[in-house]
Amino acid sequence: MNSNNTLDADVVVVGAGITGASCACLLGLAGLKVVLLESGIRQINSLKQSDARIFAMTLASQKILKQSGAWNRIDQNDIGIFNKMHVWDENGVGEIDFDSAAICQSELGYIIPYQAISDALQDAMLDIDNIRCLWSVLPVSIERKQDTIQIKTEDGLVYKTRLIVAADGANSKIRQLVGINYIRHDYKQSALACIATTEFSHEQVARQRFLKRGPLAFLPMADQHQCAIVWSTSPEHAQRLLGLDERSFYAELSEAFANELGQITATSERVVFPLSRARADHYTQPGLVLIGDSAHTIHPLAGQGANLGLLDAAALAEIVIDAYQRGRHHGRQQVLRKYERWRKGKNHSMMYLMDGFKYLFENQSQPLPLLRNVGLDMVNDLPLLKHAIMRRAMGIEGGLPDIAR
Ligand SMILES: Cc1cc2nc3c(=O)[nH]c(=O)nc-3n(C[C@H](O)[C@H](O)[C@H](O)COP(=O)(O)OP(=O)(O)OC[C@H]3O[C@@H](n4cnc5c(N)ncnc54)[C@H](O)[C@@H]3O)c2cc1C
Repeated sequence: MNSNNTLDADVVVVGAGITGASCACLLGLAGLKVVLLESGIRQINSLKQSDARIFAMTLASQKILKQSGAWNRIDQNDIGIFNKMHVWDENGVGEIDFDSAAICQSELGYIIPYQAISDALQDAMLDIDNIRCLWSVLPVSIERKQDTIQIKTEDGLVYKTRLIVAADGANSKIRQLVGINYIRHDYKQSALACIATTEFSHEQVARQRFLKRGPLAFLPMADQHQCAIVWSTSPEHAQRLLGLDERSFYAELSEAFANELGQITATSERVVFPLSRARADHYTQPGLVLIGDSAHTIHPLAGQGANLGLLDAAALAEIVIDAYQRGRHHGRQQVLRKYERWRKGKNHSMMYLMDGFKYLFENQSQPLPLLRNVGLDMVNDLPLLKHAIMRRAMGIEGGLPDIAR
């Protein structure tokens, strides 16, 4: 910090969620001087699973977390592996199964508590000398000066840089400060999340049943009898489920899941999230870029939100590192637009694909229920199409950054 309370950095990242922290690690490991500003307090020895979200991570995300130095720091007891997936509709006989062995892979993906990934990223950052993490910091203004951009925080300090990376989530303050429009669509749905203990072993199969109010997912955790539950439903139904006593909730949950894993014998605290989709009009301005939920949010139907955020972080890091190593200004619009062109289309297509699934599976008026049952069975019988869907969902195909390959 110099005499006029100003600190210089190559990049200032705002937000130490999964996307911000991984972006900081990738840039820091490549030799850029990074300052990371986070509004929350640092969770020292945080209790595992204090955040109710459990993430389904793709193979591409695993690679990005490896390159960030975080993957090997995640406790093996926190990593659930799934190698099969079973999806079916409550109204009929249509079903589809995916098996990693069909495309010569040992797994389809991983189920990991948010807190375990976040703790590993924080540990990784501590080991990178040129990352400076500042906690409980609130940005209040942004100002551009020639070819630099400055961010001022509530405590009066000023951070001068060539690039600000806004990774401060769906309600991004940075996005608001620079006036980028964020269009939200309220799904008028909520997701109830918890961890359930089941009578039968999940056998490393991820299961999803489409109910008329929304999908109910049982995602296999490291413990063979524990699944992360994401139950998307109407806000009224979610509130009713939240208010049920334990026994009534166990009964309703196992019935909604057609007792596929037998009785539910315990659950963790239930948490309800409102669901919306949103997208920023632009991902970039001179000296500034949005990544992760600050640029887009999607339905958790296929557990892709954080995976898209990690791909944003990796794509941006690749472009910025390349410009930096060639001695070019890494915050110039010309450089940042490459990132926007790369990621915006991919994020939007995933967003609208999720909407398509949602419409197809929740619509109860004929002929949709009939068509989806026939459609599920047809896809199930077409190995080439099924393998292509699997590869895309696993993140091993489709314009990936080198870091994620
Ligand atoms: C029920 C549910 C289940 C989900 N399941 C999955 C799943 O299985 N797989 C998946 O990939 N995704 C899933 N998601 C989506 C996932 O949670 C998000 O996409 C992901 O967390 C976004 O990460 P992020 O780092 O961009 O933002 P965030 O996780 O929101 O992190 C933002 C960070 O910025 C900080 N911050 C906020 N404001 C400021 C400020 N003004 N200044 C400084 N710092 C600030 C915050 O404290 C936070 O640390 C799910 C979402 C929901 C609701």
